[in-house]
Amino acid sequence: MTKLYRRKLSREDADTGTILITKDRWRTFPPPMQEFAVEIGGRRFATRIVPEDCACVPPPHQHYHLEAGHFRKLLDFTKGAVVEIEQGPDRYVVRNGR
Ligand SMILES: [Zn+2]
Repeated sequence: MTKLYRRKLSREDADTGTILITKDRWRTFPPPMQEFAVEIGGRRFATRIVPEDCACVPPPHQHYHLEAGHFRKLLDFTKGAVVEIEQGPDRYVVRNGR
């Protein structure tokens, strides 16, 4: 499985300062609410994935959102921008992609 997660930011991502992690990739990230390190532009931050209960389609399920509000200013974090998250040995590197 690839160690690169690529996401085109939705309006919700941009509005809430989070990055949706799609369910097929949950296993490539630490479990929800567990703090882990990310690196953006050479700076290191702690973040976590926050689960959200949802009923957009039955049955009730969860969406996972990676918190990015505290480092989004270092990225193009507007709707439609592409963000890549690459898993490294001791942190995840977050950058804009295309
Ligand atoms: Zn849902």
